[in-house]
Amino acid sequence: MSAGIIDGKQVSQRILDQVKARVDARRTRALRPPGLAVIRVGEDAASKIYVRNKLRACERCGIESTVLEIPDTTTQAELLARIDDLNHSEIIDAILVQLPLPSHIDSDTVTDGIEPTKDVDGFHPCNVGRLMLGRTGLRPCTPRGVMTLLRHIGVTVTGMDAVVLGRSNIVGRPMALELMHAGATITVCHSRTRGLEDKVAAADLVVAALGKPRFVEGSWIKTGAIVVDVGITRLADGSLVGDVDFEPARRRAAWITPVPGGVGPMTVASLLENTLQAAELRETGATTP
Ligand code: NAP
Repeated sequence: MSAGIIDGKQVSQRILDQVKARVDARRTRALRPPGLAVIRVGEDAASKIYVRNKLRACERCGIESTVLEIPDTTTQAELLARIDDLNHSEIIDAILVQLPLPSHIDSDTVTDGIEPTKDVDGFHPCNVGRLMLGRTGLRPCTPRGVMTLLRHIGVTVTGMDAVVLGRSNIVGRPMALELMHAGATITVCHSRTRGLEDKVAAADLVVAALGKPRFVEGSWIKTGAIVVDVGITRLADGSLVGDVDFEPARRRAAWITPVPGGVGPMTVASLLENTLQAAELRETGATTP
């Protein structure tokens, strides 16, 4: 068996086309384009690349983006004051603070400082609570992108046994909630899990978000399973690899995402969907997402 490759690049382009069409339609109704503000603190090299990709995607879709590059000597209070300005801006619909932040700044406090209706990453406790309850809201971008990919290949998650590897607030935990709402039966594994390999071997769907290169061996994958690899690690030779040992896993799975070109582009596409959603939300005068 050789798995179908889930082409995240291609699906993300389709999503960006849809966002662009909706932004263009706003113009014909004399509505301004959605506005995204990205805050980057310090000089983290990976963050610079991520922010650049996000801004490029905004440009492609006609979303107005602005980036605030703040030195890492900035205090937490100064950063919160900048966020507060954006919270009150009439032309900014969506605010994203690129993580990681310097160690003297508490990322939870910063997340809490973002107005929930502008919290385009979906990390504010209000949005996390809404996801938990299965209500509408701004959903974390990576899990949202994974759900879009699964829909794209026509998978019905309902009734599946799904294993999520990782329980972080930005990927594993919201991913498990999305899959649970979609009707899957969820097992969440983490660093304290016993018998992880057996749990993976029993899964119809595996979502790996550990940050451990090639941790999931191909022989663990159940024949015909769907494998979604969120992990991205840059090796010493400069190559990017996922959390799954791709080639052997591909020989057992029905569908698999590559790294790069799988989940990564979908995270950016979901961010733009969220930005548009935030703009539409604000026009309804909503005070909660
Ligand atoms: P994280 O915050 O470091 O969380 C990693 C999770 O993996 C934790 O829950 C940890 O368990 C678990 N874990 C670590 N080692 C383990 C082991 N040996 N066995 C079982 N569980 C283990 O990472 P993250 O932010 O969720 O990101 C995960 C990966 O996804 C990274 O490679 C990151 O770069 C990538 N990522 C990709 C995208 C994208 O767009 N493609 C977006 C976000 C993240 P504990 O909780 O017990 O410590």
